[in-house]
Amino acid sequence: METEFQAALEAGDLAGLRACPKADLHIHALMGGDRDWVRARTGRDIAPLEHVLGSMDEMHAWVSDATGDVFKGGAGRAVAFEATFAQAALDGVTRLEVGDDVWGITQYDGTAQAVWRTLTEAHARGGPQVDWIPQMGMSRHCPYAALDWWMTPLLELGTFKTLDLSGDEFAQPIEVFVPLYRKAKAAGLKLKAHVGEWGTADDVWRAVELLELDEVQHGIAAADSPEVMRRLAETGVRLNLCPTSNLKLGRVARMEDHPIRRLYDAGVRVSVNTDDPLMFGNGVSAEFLTLFQAGVMTAAELDAIRLDALG
Ligand SMILES: [Zn+2]
Repeated sequence: METEFQAALEAGDLAGLRACPKADLHIHALMGGDRDWVRARTGRDIAPLEHVLGSMDEMHAWVSDATGDVFKGGAGRAVAFEATFAQAALDGVTRLEVGDDVWGITQYDGTAQAVWRTLTEAHARGGPQVDWIPQMGMSRHCPYAALDWWMTPLLELGTFKTLDLSGDEFAQPIEVFVPLYRKAKAAGLKLKAHVGEWGTADDVWRAVELLELDEVQHGIAAADSPEVMRRLAETGVRLNLCPTSNLKLGRVARMEDHPIRRLYDAGVRVSVNTDDPLMFGNGVSAEFLTLFQAGVMTAAELDAIRLDALG
């Protein structure tokens, strides 16, 4: 029988999609907000990116130019986090994996408690109805010693549930991060990392093996290798995909050709997410609709993907 979610996809009914429970497992809290909410709160209108960018450097320059000072410092980060929870609540996201970068600890009073307090207050103000899975992130360009120094007190809090690594995939070899992932694993965190967005299918599998990843952020390059897709399918490692982000960053030329189709057909577990809603002008509901309307996936397939991510 057709579900409400499937009917909403077929009718192009964004409000209907928003009314259905959804997860966002790949979203960055500094650019996770909703345009109208951010404008009402800060007075700054951040119009979504219109053209295709060619590199992460171009992306960082765009973010800096578009956001100015509104998300700078501890107070600015608090606004960005609240905006992210509010955006998720508006879009009917019921399960949200998000948090601060471990570097964020330098932006408050230098304590892990301040990071935690800022996040929990943002959740309470922005979207208390959202089931929040606290995540700590790391940037790939940061020196190992600094990451270790920042991460240790955050891990000792015992409140974070997932770990992610993002930023320039080519900044440092993945091996550098192995000891940090071992510590996070020992602390019981779910392990994720950005890989295979700019890199190769082999990069994806190498990161999965070395870091013992449970999930991969993006990982679309895996679709170039039947062997890597077979291994991902066998191990059940999920790829948390962000279709519009892939398009706007020039990783995929046309939505009609998005590799989610090949990955899904190869039995790879996938989810559909936003990456940076304030930058891309998207939400999870819109991402599902975009894939459906581009003829990439059927309504029943997208519903199965939605439900799997909620589990
Ligand atoms: Zn991302």
